[in-house]
Amino acid sequence: MSPRPYVLAETNWKAVQQTDYQVAVLPWGATEAHNYHMPYATDNYQCDYIAAEACRQAWEQGVKAVALPTIPFGVNTGQLDIKLDLNLNPSTQLIILRDLIDVVQRAGISRFVVLNGHGGNDFKQMLRELQPQFPDVFLCLINWFKVEPRDGYFQHPGDHADEMETSVMMHIQPDLVLDLSEAGSGAFKTLKLEGFRKGWAWAQREWSKATVDTGTGNPAEATADKGRRYLEAVTQHVGRFLVELSRHSVDELYG
Ligand SMILES: [Zn+2]
Repeated sequence: MSPRPYVLAETNWKAVQQTDYQVAVLPWGATEAHNYHMPYATDNYQCDYIAAEACRQAWEQGVKAVALPTIPFGVNTGQLDIKLDLNLNPSTQLIILRDLIDVVQRAGISRFVVLNGHGGNDFKQMLRELQPQFPDVFLCLINWFKVEPRDGYFQHPGDHADEMETSVMMHIQPDLVLDLSEAGSGAFKTLKLEGFRKGWAWAQREWSKATVDTGTGNPAEATADKGRRYLEAVTQHVGRFLVELSRHSVDELYG
């Protein structure tokens, strides 16, 4: 396999030195249990794939986008009692993010996208705090799992190790997904007060109280083909976003 020039981990100083990158993409995942049937690094495999594929599409359209390595640890403060879910606190993430944006600014790259792949990560407030510290880099955030509506692709709702995530993994890492007969049903409970149910009140979910098998959402109807179709839509949207973002000057983004 030859190095992909849009994946920093694969490319080299010879190429990097000569390339005037327009946008850097930092994928950010998590390492955590995903029902019984999927690997702990599920979010990281997904982030790796989507970042690389979106940058490839941007590259093909003449935009020099570079996918940085996926940060494999996310906020898992609601899963501290789930064995080997690897928690980073939000304040730790802020420090990591600041150091990496500093590198990007020094490299003269004027656009930076956090590509988030884990529901417990919340970078919005961090980017609010960091933007004034990095006037030469436009900071923005994509939660990839919100890019494309799930209707029309999947039967069962959910948000963790569900039909969507399982289908995606069956497409990109089929050898790491156990037979679906091994999977739990992904049955879950929600906080029962009206405010929580309607969404105007929020509290962290305690995973061991909310779930049985760590999954939320039934994966039984997942297929690799559903995952392929969904990822095609997601990566096209993200790829197009990178192209648009790079073709506008930061001052032209309103209108
Ligand atoms: Zn996940």
